[in-house]
Amino acid sequence: MDYVGRIFRPPSEAPSLLLQVTIGCSHNRCVYCDMYRDKQFRPKPWAQIEADLIEAAAHGRRGIRSKRLFLCDGDALILSTRKLLQILDGIRKHLPWIERVGTYGDTRSVGRKSVEELTALREAGLGIVYHGMETGDEEVLELIDKGGTRPELIETAAKLRAAGLTHSVIVLLGIGGVALSEQHARGTAEALSEMDPPYVGALTTTIVPGTPLHDMAARGDFELPSKFRMLQELRTIVADSQLRACRFSSNHASNYLPLRGTLPGDKPAMLEMLDQVIARGDERLLKPEHLRGL
Ligand code: SF4
Repeated sequence: MDYVGRIFRPPSEAPSLLLQVTIGCSHNRCVYCDMYRDKQFRPKPWAQIEADLIEAAAHGRRGIRSKRLFLCDGDALILSTRKLLQILDGIRKHLPWIERVGTYGDTRSVGRKSVEELTALREAGLGIVYHGMETGDEEVLELIDKGGTRPELIETAAKLRAAGLTHSVIVLLGIGGVALSEQHARGTAEALSEMDPPYVGALTTTIVPGTPLHDMAARGDFELPSKFRMLQELRTIVADSQLRACRFSSNHASNYLPLRGTLPGDKPAMLEMLDQVIARGDERLLKPEHLRGL
C-alpha cells in the first residue's frame, strides 16, 4: 500500500484497512493540530488508489481481510462526489467483503455536498463520518480557526442524518483554555443537544510543539486548564447534553479518565464517577502523563 507521511485514523477504526485517497488536510489551519503540517494537500491519483485496492484484494484472497475500511487523510470527504463515488465503486469491485467505509468530514466538506449527494455516497458504501467538531462555542471555534460556525455544525448533523450516514462527533476538552473553559463546555453541550449525534468521543487537548497553539501558550495568550478543570468540562458536557440515544466515550488515549456509556441512560452513573474523582482531586486516580497519547 502506498502511504505518504504519517497516517491517522479514529481509535475505533484500528482494525480497518486504511486507504489513503488524499494527502494532508485541505484546511490545515486548526491551531492545535500538527497532523498534516508537513503535507501539501492534494488528492491522490485514481491509478494509485486502484493499485492499492488491487494489492489489498490480493491480501484478501490470502485471507487477510478487514470488514471495514477508512479513507485517509484528514478530510477525504472534501473530494468531489464524482471522485468519491469512483473510489467507493472501486472498493466494492475489488474488496466486496468490506461492510463499512468511514472517513473524516466536517462543516466544510459536508457543507459542499447536497443531501442527495451524501445519500448517493451512503448507497455506494460510505457508512460513517467522523467529525472533529471540538467545540460548540462560536468564540472558541474562531479562536482555534476551525473553519466553521455553530449553525453550520447543526446543519452538518442534519444533512448527515437525512442522508442516513452515521455521525460520530469528536469534542476536545480544554481547547477553550482557562479563559473560555466554562463557555466551551456549555456551548459544546448545547450544540451536541441540537445535533443529537449517535456517537460522541471526548479527547483532551495536548499542546504540541510547532503548532500555533504552542506559540499562543508561549506568549501567554493561551493557558491549558488543569486536569481536574478539564474533567469538570467533561462533567458539564455529560450533564447538560440532551441526547436521545448516544454512545458517549472518553476512552481515547489522550484522556485522563476513561469513561464510556449510553446517554441518557448512563448519565447518572457517569456523573457520579466524575463527581467522585473531581471531589477527591487525587491525581493518582487519573491516567499518568506518560501513558497518554495523541
Ligand atoms: S480539519 Fe482536522 S486535520 Fe485539518 S487541520 Fe483541522 S484538525 Fe487538523
